[in-house]
Amino acid sequence: MTNDAEQTNTVYIIGAGASHAVCGFPLLAGFLKDCRTDIEARANLHEYLERRFSGNGHDALDANLEDVLADLDNTLFGLGQVWYGSASHPERLRAQIIRSQLLEVIQKRLSVGDESEESSAELRGNYERVLGKLTGADTVITFNYDRSLDYCCGMRPLAYVMNPDINYLTPEELAAEDKPWLLHLHGSIDFLTCGNVECPNSWRILGRRKSSGTRICGTCGADMEIAIVPPSMTKSFQRYPLLSVLARIAKERLVTAKRIVIWGFSCPSTDHHVGWLLRSCRGGSPDSESLRRIDVIDPDAKTVLDRFKVLLAPGQTTECRSFGGHEEYVSKHLSDSPPHA
Ligand SMILES: [Zn+2]
Repeated sequence: MTNDAEQTNTVYIIGAGASHAVCGFPLLAGFLKDCRTDIEARANLHEYLERRFSGNGHDALDANLEDVLADLDNTLFGLGQVWYGSASHPERLRAQIIRSQLLEVIQKRLSVGDESEESSAELRGNYERVLGKLTGADTVITFNYDRSLDYCCGMRPLAYVMNPDINYLTPEELAAEDKPWLLHLHGSIDFLTCGNVECPNSWRILGRRKSSGTRICGTCGADMEIAIVPPSMTKSFQRYPLLSVLARIAKERLVTAKRIVIWGFSCPSTDHHVGWLLRSCRGGSPDSESLRRIDVIDPDAKTVLDRFKVLLAPGQTTECRSFGGHEEYVSKHLSDSPPHA
């Protein structure tokens, strides 16, 4: 524990803008265009994007990655189809192939550079400048699929610590302060699951072990695929129950948060899961210690802050600060914060 109250019970909420700034990964809106060569090399995926997302003078690859993932998930779910509920219908199998191809493209793009010791040390350095020295009372919630944060500060990503033979967490384990939690709420390219939805192993998420290459499910022999989900897909929680566990831990941590730092996440009002989650910062009870400060790091910080403020309780007195980028945050935050609050 540190004496610096600024550094305790902080929840960091990290979005695509942060990994764009730190690692140079594309934003969700420019992602497909950035991967044009890999997409064009996959005929099924390319044809699907052209068929579903091109038109009226705009390129299919201008589509937002999350919109495309949500579109595919709705098809896989059988929305509006006569084959609703049939796992083996040819149209569904076709959608599954397209989705697997898209996951390959995402995994390849987001793995760039993070296999080497040198670049992971550089990424860690960049994040640590903003996150500071995390303690076990701190939490990092990320909506990003890349694993650049996984290298930071000895955090515990849940996929690695869940023991499948002990299928519950105790309150002590939830609150344990030995290491900060790292919660990938929309999955990660490091979360692996069986690609065969009829396999009993398909609901489990396993942490990827070292080295890249194909993984084969030990239960059914199908290829393993990465587990990532677009926002606002309730079905995702049925497919990957572990993500509900991550959401529960995030909620518990937000209830007691003293400080929230939102970095590169736009807090879209249409993402109802996130709205539900963030209202937890209203506190657990009338006399619970409330949130003291919100820092927003974003080129459009004022808009993000305005969206966040409507989630606060009436009369909740919380200091709000905004920063145009992480460089500004690092220089101003360090000079503004008293060493011992
Ligand atoms: Zn399997």
